[in-house]
Amino acid sequence: LEKETLASGCTSHGTGISRFNLRDADNSAHANLLQSHIFKLDKMIPFLEDESGMSVQYQLMPGMSVPLTDEAWESMQVQGPANGHKVLSGDAARQLEPHLGPEIPGVLWEPRRARVSGPKLTFAYARAAAKRGAEISLGEPATGVQLMDGRVVGVKTPSETIPCGAVVLAMGTWAPEAGAWFGVDIPVKPVKGEALRLVYRGPSSTHALNPMGLRPGFAEQGHVLFRMDGMVSVGSTMEDTGYVSEPTQAARDRLMRMAVYLWPGLAEAEVKHHVYGLRPIPADGLPILGPIPGVEGGFIVTGHGAVSKSALFAEITADYVLRGTTDAVPSMEPFLLERFDAKGDVGENAFGVIRQAREAAPTVAAGSGRDG
Ligand SMILES: Cc1cc2nc3c(=O)[nH]c(=O)nc-3n(C[C@H](O)[C@H](O)[C@H](O)COP(=O)(O)OP(=O)(O)OC[C@H]3O[C@@H](n4cnc5c(N)ncnc54)[C@H](O)[C@@H]3O)c2cc1C
Repeated sequence: LEKETLASGCTSHGTGISRFNLRDADNSAHANLLQSHIFKLDKMIPFLEDESGMSVQYQLMPGMSVPLTDEAWESMQVQGPANGHKVLSGDAARQLEPHLGPEIPGVLWEPRRARVSGPKLTFAYARAAAKRGAEISLGEPATGVQLMDGRVVGVKTPSETIPCGAVVLAMGTWAPEAGAWFGVDIPVKPVKGEALRLVYRGPSSTHALNPMGLRPGFAEQGHVLFRMDGMVSVGSTMEDTGYVSEPTQAARDRLMRMAVYLWPGLAEAEVKHHVYGLRPIPADGLPILGPIPGVEGGFIVTGHGAVSKSALFAEITADYVLRGTTDAVPSMEPFLLERFDAKGDVGENAFGVIRQAREAAPTVAAGSGRDG
């Protein structure tokens, strides 16, 4: 059931970048989850394109992380090599990319990043699923669930109750609305991200560029990425504006300033689209996956980076629905909804948690982001 149309939520404007962030390069469960998502996506895309008969614009390229502050540069030079990334001087970087900004003191080079189109991926999933018998209802909201003896037996819509053996809430930033259906709190908060799509006829970069560090007047985190459809994607701001929000001139200026620092030729580019979306950010920043506690047959999947991690999230969800468990990641504990009971009330803290994480590791983590 989709209340509007396919890919009408955050997915329509997410950048779809998949990468392994330095911040995640420890042995945490989240790092393991992130690592495995890259391989799942790689494996799944050819299969999905074949099943759906459409391209999802999967683009592989090396990456350059570009420091925006002295602290970021110092920290990158220490942490980068420790995590298998190469430190290049500004001149060495400009030998690879001659049109890179002249003030850039150096970069961290990574062999592999990927980008996929969120809307195309969604359409491909839908087509492939329909081919295998799934029925997809567009313009039809779920308004509740029918419970019997502690288990889900139906989903309510404005016109009917559809009998079912399992329900998966895949509602993005609207997931908290469904908490009442199950008698649980779902601590997810919208965090606005704005991005630009540019038309630019000058020389393009063969690397995905990601700034690191917070610089006044620049976007909070970001990327400059020359997409395979010819557009240049420039993103993304990160602002706590609640559910009501719109794109702003100030955000556009911050994005363009950052883009021109990284790739000066973009000063000549035309802004074709100025997009924004509401990222579903759980209170502790990690995705929420798996069973809804206390109700048999209820499941949830939401969180940030859900475009690039969709193959992994889908496998985890299917495992739980079909087998009641998963071995897709080494430990599910950090991702289960029930973790919030143990932590107490963190529902109002989503954006704060992200900010704190960035402040705690101000040089490398800031700006590296979990997305573009
Ligand atoms: C600027 C920006 C940059 C980003 N960059 C990246 C990136 O580089 N890589 C990455 O992986 N991620 C990125 N993201 C995040 C990513 O886009 C999101 O994590 C992802 O799109 C969330 O997908 P979702 O399906 O959970 O939610 P959504 O795409 O929001 O979908 C939820 C859907 O549920 C529907 N719905 C809601 N309530 C109901 C109901 N009651 N009944 C029926 N349907 C309902 C909505 O209509 C909507 O279509 C970015 C996001 C932004 C905004």
